[in-house]
Amino acid sequence: MVDNPGMSSCTPSIDRYAVVGHPIAHSKSPTIHRLFAQATGQRMDYSAIEAAPNAFAETLARFVAQGGKGMNVTLPFKVEACGLATDPMPSAVLAGAANCLAIRGERIEAHNFDGTGLVTDIAQHHGTALGGRRVLVLGAGGATRGALPALAAAGPAVLAVANRTAQKALDLQTHFAPHFAVQAGGFEDLAGESFDVVINATSTGLSDQTLALPLGLFAPNALAYDMVYGQGLTPFMRQAQAAGVCRLADGLGMLVEQAAEAFTLWRGVRPQTANVIRSLRGVSICASSPPPP
Ligand code: NAP
Repeated sequence: MVDNPGMSSCTPSIDRYAVVGHPIAHSKSPTIHRLFAQATGQRMDYSAIEAAPNAFAETLARFVAQGGKGMNVTLPFKVEACGLATDPMPSAVLAGAANCLAIRGERIEAHNFDGTGLVTDIAQHHGTALGGRRVLVLGAGGATRGALPALAAAGPAVLAVANRTAQKALDLQTHFAPHFAVQAGGFEDLAGESFDVVINATSTGLSDQTLALPLGLFAPNALAYDMVYGQGLTPFMRQAQAAGVCRLADGLGMLVEQAAEAFTLWRGVRPQTANVIRSLRGVSICASSPPPP
């Protein structure tokens, strides 16, 4: 529960939203929500707020007191945001983390739209329905935890998680066991297996490190999806390309689609996303296109 001392005296004339993280300067969320608001004719203010690592709770309390209506939450505050909410929704409870808060008076509703954003992006912008497919997620951190429930709900034939530290993948398997089945292990356990969709949810996209993936991991016509965005071809994409994969995607569409879920929740209007993704992409990589010769 968060204190809400000045709610009635400081209600702003325009609805306020924000993304909170540390760091936050790089965030594309203000641009995305500005484009959504323009396209749908919504009058709203959306800003980026930097919170010190130990100051998320007070930042949220201040925002609520100032009449803020909704908040996106990014690293490192997603777990804390879920814990502070008065009404965590199933998507946040399952993930144990929230990336979207809807503030309704003194009540704070928490959601996790990362997984929905990922599945929608893969289906709508990369032409891949996950039903009946073999889907592998690399990594077992917060992004994987947020993504797995939505991936499972899409009905894949196999849903697998592999992580450098195998135990963390096994922990996720145990965590989700009451809800859905996940195959789990280390990268070495992937030998002899192949997948139609391979999602990189490790943080190596921001480095020059490659993953110790076995040969034959990518099935014919596989989609190689890196959750990182804005980096051009990531090491994982280059690795997939070298293995003959032509369908490459970054995580920009995931970011925009989770933002669209938040916008729809807050404003009651669903924004179009394809133009926003195109506009943000500018001259960086053309996702899902064949690699250059
Ligand atoms: P995290 O909780 O810190 O987890 C990092 C994961 O990467 C762990 O599984 C870790 O394995 C693995 N890893 C790190 N370095 C590695 C290496 N050299 N080799 C193999 N595995 C390595 O991070 P996260 O929050 O899950 O985020 C993961 C990525 O997803 C980030 O790049 C983030 O930007 C991206 N993301 C994108 C979106 C979007 O909207 N597009 C949303 C959320 C996250 P160990 O367990 O062995 O350490």
